[in-house]
Amino acid sequence: MNIGIIGLGSIGASLAGDWRQAGHVVVGVSRRQSTCDLAIERGFIDRGSTDLEILTGLDVLVICTPIADILPTLARSIAVIDPETIVTDVGSVKEAIVAPATKIRSNFIGGHPMAGKATSGIEAAELGMFAGKPYVLTPLESTPQRAIDLLTQLAIDLNARLDLAAPTEHDRAVAWISHLPVMVSASLIDACTQEQDRSVLGLAQKLASSGFKDTSRVGGGNPELGMMMARYNQAAILDAIAIYRQQLDRLEQAISTNQWAEVTAILEHTQNARPDFVKVPIP
Ligand code: NAP
Repeated sequence: MNIGIIGLGSIGASLAGDWRQAGHVVVGVSRRQSTCDLAIERGFIDRGSTDLEILTGLDVLVICTPIADILPTLARSIAVIDPETIVTDVGSVKEAIVAPATKIRSNFIGGHPMAGKATSGIEAAELGMFAGKPYVLTPLESTPQRAIDLLTQLAIDLNARLDLAAPTEHDRAVAWISHLPVMVSASLIDACTQEQDRSVLGLAQKLASSGFKDTSRVGGGNPELGMMMARYNQAAILDAIAIYRQQLDRLEQAISTNQWAEVTAILEHTQNARPDFVKVPIP
């Protein structure tokens, strides 16, 4: 296949590299020429440019810019790409994108490859990032079958786990397991920095090990991405935060009133529930 990628950052360049390794021809567009040059040097793409004009003769165009740029980028690129080119995106939210994108381009299909790193930009790109990870497609009833088939094949080429969902369902689900964790993890780091005793704070920073590394990872990631999750999935993330706050209040109440059986019951429930979400060891 001939694949075009716009936005050669952590997700765009990683996808490009994997698809190129799978035998596809990949052309890339990014904001800076230096990023395109690096993407060629590292073997992520065959050709690259800051100019959308390079995106002709494509089977599929994958928009991998920050969320706020996806629709404007789509609107600009349709003047250049062939009418039959399938267009998809990788945005972490889907409802705010899929309906308006489909109005602009009827053969658009929403997508979300669910892997990521705390760092951003092309320096964070790596091969094999999506293997074993979910790749969600969010087709509408009007989405052409060819778009679903083509993206299904590309997800298989990444060794990703394909899922189909409606955009709203996707956004509510990722609010729980991706967007809420970012806000919780960020609040955890923020709370720790409130320690007023400098020697205690210094000791905590020195002692922080695997538990803190796990729980703080997503809160220490790309601030722009976290803000966009909140901004473009506002209703679902607010619902999730409200329930989370209730759970924290319940724990606080039980701890402050010495209800140790209640604390144990809550932790037994969470111990049993976790494998329903985390089925395989995640590195
Ligand atoms: P990123 O690492 O910051 O990469 C985006 C890159 O796109 C930038 O480095 C920039 O490269 C380029 N760019 C920015 N605006 C552009 C524009 N208007 N036109 C062309 N290129 C542009 O971000 P990311 O983490 O890859 O995220 C990209 C998308 O993937 C977002 O929509 C996000 O929701 C989604 N996503 C992210 C994750 C994650 O965990 N990171 C996971 C799944 C999906 P230069 O300025 O260097 O050219």
